[in-house]
Amino acid sequence: MPDCLFCKIINKEVDSEIVYEDDLCVAFKDINPKARVHLLVVPKKHIASVADIAEEDEALMGHLIMVAKKLAAKNDAKGYQLQFNVGKEAGQIIFHVHLHLMAR
Ligand code: AMP
Ligand code: ZN
Repeated sequence: MPDCLFCKIINKEVDSEIVYEDDLCVAFKDINPKARVHLLVVPKKHIASVADIAEEDEALMGHLIMVAKKLAAKNDAKGYQLQFNVGKEAGQIIFHVHLHLMAR
């Protein structure tokens, strides 16, 4: 999606602190961290919101959680929060699906 900030980060057209990348997703540091560890795990496929995922995205969405779990362990997080904000009413400001990983 040409006007999507996270697509631009995925395509390296916009700088970010990428900490993980594979065929399906990237993870980078949130620019305005709300916790000691605050990463965003983002599918390379542009999907606007969890409200827009399709049946075919089921494995991809599971993959995001698996990656988040591994990144939490790598960052010595004992407990952590995983959060999807879905829709502007819930505080979603970037309309490309992303899983927040936050750990104190
Ligand atoms: P959300 O409210 O779920 O849409 O969260 C969007 C998140 O993206 C916020 O926590 C922002 O701080 C973060 N963010 C916005 N722009 C960037 C950027 N250029 N690089 C990294 N994180 C960003
Ligand atoms: Zn996008």
